[in-house]
Formats: sequence, C-alpha cells, structure tokens
Amino acid sequence: MAVPLRAQPTPKPAPFVRGANAEAGAGPPTVVLLALDGVRWEDVFLGVEADLAEEQGLAPGEVLSARELMPNLHALIETTGTALGAPERGHGVFVAGPEPFSLPGYLELLTSRKDTGCTTNGCAPTTLPTLADDFRAQSGPDDVAVISSWEGIERASARDPSAIIVSTGRSRGSNLDRLRYDPQAAALLDAGAKSGPTPGHGDFRRDKQTAEIALRYLAVRKPHFLFLGLGETDEYAHRDDYRGYLKALQHGDAVIGRVLETLHDLRREGRRTTLFVTTDHGRAAEFIRHGGDAPESARVWLVAAGHGIAARGLAATEAARTLVDLSQTIRHVGDLPPRGGGTPLVELLEDEAARVATR
Ligand SMILES: [Zn+2]
Repeated sequence: MAVPLRAQPTPKPAPFVRGANAEAGAGPPTVVLLALDGVRWEDVFLGVEADLAEEQGLAPGEVLSARELMPNLHALIETTGTALGAPERGHGVFVAGPEPFSLPGYLELLTSRKDTGCTTNGCAPTTLPTLADDFRAQSGPDDVAVISSWEGIERASARDPSAIIVSTGRSRGSNLDRLRYDPQAAALLDAGAKSGPTPGHGDFRRDKQTAEIALRYLAVRKPHFLFLGLGETDEYAHRDDYRGYLKALQHGDAVIGRVLETLHDLRREGRRTTLFVTTDHGRAAEFIRHGGDAPESARVWLVAAGHGIAARGLAATEAARTLVDLSQTIRHVGDLPPRGGGTPLVELLEDEAARVATR
C-alpha cells in the first residue's frame, strides 16, 4: 500500500526575509534556475486536484492545499518573491513555440529564443549560445553548472558544453571529473550513477540524487549560474500516477527550501543571489500527456525571488508572457548581454529603470 501524501511543515524562518536584498553586496551573481518538468499551474497554485485525486484512489486527507503541498514555494511568494501564471492574474505564461515538449521548452529557457528549430525531444545538440555559455563568458570554468535528471537536457545546455560542468542523467555530461571535487562529491556522483532509470527511461537519474549533487555544488563551489532540472514529476504523470507526481513535486519544494538556505548564506558573503523556479511545459487536461495537440499544455508558471526581483506575490501578467521572456529576465538580472528574443518580465523586476527601459 502506497504511503499517503502528507502536508509538509511550513518553513521557519521564512526564506528571503524582507529587506534581505539590501544586504547584497557588489559581489558576483549566483543565479539558480530550477525547472520541475511538466508541472501544471493548477497543482502549483490550487493544490491537489480533488477530482483527479478521487479517480486515482487518493484519500480525502491527501487533497492538500497549494500551501500544504509546496510550503517553501508559497512562503517565498508570500514574503519576497513574485509568481506569474496564477489563475485570474492577467494573461498567463506559456511556452513560446508550437510544441510543448521538454527539449523545445528547455531550449527556450536556455537560449532566450522562440525559433530554436527544435519541436521534439529528438533534436540535435544546440548550436545556439545559451545562458550557460554567456555566464561562462564572464566567469571561470567551475562557475557554471547544468545538472539534471533527464539526460536530454545535455543537448540544450550550452553551445560549448566542454567549457562548463554538465551532469545530465546517470552518465551523460561534460567535465564530470570536476564534480568529483572532494570525496563526498564523488560519492554523490557515484550514487547518482546507480540510481534509475525508473520512473524515467534510458539514462534518467533519480531526482533525489540529482538534487543532492546540485545542492552540494551550489553550497561548496558557489557557481555564478546553476541550472537544476528535476524530472520525476513528468515521468510519474506519463505513468498516470498522480500520487507519484505529487510526491515528486513535494520533493521539488523541499529542494527549493534548501536552495534558499544556501542562497541566504551566499548573500551574507556578498553574493547577489536570485532564484527562478519554473517548468518546461504544462499538461493536457487529462493529466497524462502534453504536446501541440493539447494546447492547454502550453500554459506554464514561474516564481522568482532575490536580487533584482520585486516582492509582488501572485502578480498579474500585463500580456501573455513566455519562457523566452523569462530567459531574457535572467539575462537582465545576471548582467548578461541581451540576446535572442522576448523582453525582460517587468512584472518581476524591482528596478523601475528597467521597467521603463523595457516598455
Ligand atoms: Zn513528458
């Protein structure tokens, strides 16, 4: 018998306490982009869907509110962050391209372009410069890391993966030796190599091991840019396992809490720290699938907090926004050159000059 879902404890103290941004010095940036694969805006903002829960044999006590399901994310939204894509808050956030699949979505997020030429999960490695390439251009070889459960993200990671750290899936990546920076780090990488592929396929690595590798890298190596991709939400959804999906989402929320703790420490060292949390695509109304034939699966969501980001809570979008706009926002906050398409999300930015400049 499956272990039931339980409400998670509310984090204490709330991460990113108000005014924390003012503490930030002029040190280098630490930008974390956390992607939770194929997570619906409904679960993020409305909590467990009662009808689907009943259909799947979940107990009434497992129908958690959004805050019970993702306490760290909601504490962040309620204190110092801004969320876009919530119901009845403006025009929504969407994938920009025609096919809401993973590789096209990650390419939008990482290349800041809609026209990536990729509409399936079978695309060749990107030849376009990504956020990772551009963060790398202004930092050192260990300052940019792309770490994910799904091996396919390797193909969206960078035009030049050899210049950064990439660990995608159990065995794929670049410069994996540099993730063995001490015995504990090597042990985490080795544990990851043995963990999977279920609930995924192929070279998929379990989210828990992926997250431990990335969280320790963030705390110890203090990269300027970390992309962390967790994939079990999408995998359990494709198996039509709503409880499995929700548990993977709860794990994602726990990871958010731990990222925030580490960013808090880095901020005290003078780092300018920002966290972005989003997804690569939504899901069809029937939950299991996603794709161009289910246009509702193009709708996504995002949450941001930290340096450069306003505390607006559940904010309204001023127009339909996209993952390309989010990518452009990361460029703006990370002091990267503008490149690709889209415009920084004024709904997220705290600096009024940027707000005016991007209109
Ligand atoms: Zn999928």
